[in-house]
Amino acid sequence: MEVFKMFSKHSHEQVVFCNEPEIGLKAIIAIHDTTLGPSLGGCRFYNYASEAEAMKDVLRLSRGMTYKASIAGLNLGGGKSVIMGDPKKFKSEHLFRAFGRFVEGLGGRYITAEDMNTTVRDMEWVRMETRSVTGISKALGGSGDPSPVTAFGTFMGIKAALNWMHHNEDLSGIKVGVQGVGHVGYYLCQYLHEAGAELFVTDVNQKALDAVVEEFGAVQLNNNDIYGYDLDVFAPCAMGAILDDDTIPQLKAKIVAGAANNQLAVSNKHGGELKKQGILYAPDYAINAGGLINVANELEGYNQERAFQQAEGIYDKLAEIFHLSDSQDLPTNLASDQLAEERIRRVAQIKTFYTSPTVGVIRKRQ
Ligand code: NAD
Repeated sequence: MEVFKMFSKHSHEQVVFCNEPEIGLKAIIAIHDTTLGPSLGGCRFYNYASEAEAMKDVLRLSRGMTYKASIAGLNLGGGKSVIMGDPKKFKSEHLFRAFGRFVEGLGGRYITAEDMNTTVRDMEWVRMETRSVTGISKALGGSGDPSPVTAFGTFMGIKAALNWMHHNEDLSGIKVGVQGVGHVGYYLCQYLHEAGAELFVTDVNQKALDAVVEEFGAVQLNNNDIYGYDLDVFAPCAMGAILDDDTIPQLKAKIVAGAANNQLAVSNKHGGELKKQGILYAPDYAINAGGLINVANELEGYNQERAFQQAEGIYDKLAEIFHLSDSQDLPTNLASDQLAEERIRRVAQIKTFYTSPTVGVIRKRQ
């Protein structure tokens, strides 16, 4: 594995390999960019087929966090960590505390949180060794489940998309298909129902479906029927990579706006395909940034009202993305990347200047 080549490709700042053989901890922490602030990103526990695969994943995910934090207007950079191994076999207090000590060793440059196969409880073990962890339970002064804020941000994003397309954000009678009614999907259905939308839902979990059918009058569809169903908005809130060569041509909805991560199977290709088909795509990492906004808030002393207020800003951010996409004839995912990069570039510029406390002028740093 050519390590430096791999992490220079997308300008990662630092990659840390964590090894504690007695406990069986093998982890990689990747810090992509700290221009805006300390890097933040969850800790994924996964049984990777190889070290190269783990490295590729942590590099890709940490870079994604840089873009997400930037587009959300947060003063945070992008980072991520992966623990290698079978989460069903290897989880223990010792393992997470050992991981926490490595995080602590980075002196605040990386802040961890829960992610795939790690839980709030695991993060409480990490917190025994470091304060550089967020997304912990309400009982310990944390923010708890981020899903309500993620769902609210997604709801705002759907309204922004409707307004961009129809100059009207009224949801009454609008047909919305929600794929996956788990944590985020459930709350999203609640917001949409209260706003008068007609709901069409799929899930592989019948209990989750029954709840939204009963509570919000949603209509249950067969799993694969959702793509070709006559909808105004398609909101993916389950797995990633569902927008591909097979599903995009089936879509009748003219808006795709949902919370799932990494919705485009191949981002360089399928963002363009959606645009070609006249479908307005709300870039996933911009519309689902409510979760990150929520855990970022915890770092300043959690205030739920402030988290919801910040998530409301997703409406304006998406409007800016749609505008740029339109004016430069770019797929929305690329327009979003451009805005995220531009913010980082501008902040980097001002960081090369400082105000002298004695002279009071701004000088360029040597
Ligand atoms: P979740 O596990 O609670 O819910 C996902 C739901 O999707 C489950 O009910 C599951 O049964 C269902 N599902 C699985 N396979 C399916 C399929 N083939 N068809 C239809 N439904 C299927 O997860 P969540 O926390 O609600 O997150 C949903 C998505 O949003 C994920 O992609 C996640 O990464 C993303 N996301 C979540 C948050 C958050 O705050 N929870 C923040 C940002 C992004």
